[in-house]
Amino acid sequence: MSDIKNPALREKLAPHRRSAWTPEVVDGDGAPDGSRLGGAPWLRTGEAWPACGSCGRPMQLFVQLNARDLPPPAAARLEGGLLQFFYCTSDDDACTVDAEPWAPFSPTAFLRLVARDDLGGGTAAVAAPDTFPGKRIVNWAESADYPNWEELGDRGLTLSDEESDTLSEAGFPLGGEKLLGWPLWVQGVEYPSCPDCGERMELLFQVDSEQNLPYMFGDAGVGHVTQCPRHRGRLAFGWACY
Ligand SMILES: [Zn+2]
Ligand SMILES: [Zn+2]
Repeated sequence: MSDIKNPALREKLAPHRRSAWTPEVVDGDGAPDGSRLGGAPWLRTGEAWPACGSCGRPMQLFVQLNARDLPPPAAARLEGGLLQFFYCTSDDDACTVDAEPWAPFSPTAFLRLVARDDLGGGTAAVAAPDTFPGKRIVNWAESADYPNWEELGDRGLTLSDEESDTLSEAGFPLGGEKLLGWPLWVQGVEYPSCPDCGERMELLFQVDSEQNLPYMFGDAGVGHVTQCPRHRGRLAFGWACY
């Protein structure tokens, strides 16, 4: 597991260290309710493929995570259920003008947590010709992860410029797709607040541009699926780019 080499800095950051898990994938969708990036989604019997709340076109499935396939801390966050994140990939002005597709709670994204007991009555949708190729997650590689200098500052730890450089040169926060850990913020720290209780939402899964999914958020943007710590079914997706 890679970590910060400098022992003094590693010790200073130790209270802010978290585990993150990076997906290892193979081509293909796998089980209807299995964990994957892209591919055809699990849907309830008779349920229509989710459509964009802005333009009405079918969305792409970006992320489907089944708690049974996840490391225990993440499985607990899903309360044993199935997380799905759909996103509209249309760049048509008719969709994106006014919809603010980068912002949490945009109508261009749809997220839900399906309870485990509801998974029996459903199956995988039939893929359309333009459906993203499915990448089944076969393993999770655990790594250390650290917040960036700005988020550390918010948590009361000020780094010198040299320490900040060491942290980012060591590759933290981790880029690419990952489960839990710390967000790689392209702009500032931008956690949304839960619309129900106002609590700051937490990172559940990070989606990066053109890693496992053939899609770029703006100019090489990075996006985050976040979740209310009190209302696990309250989910959001937002992204920022360079
Ligand atoms: Zn749309
Ligand atoms: Zn809440």
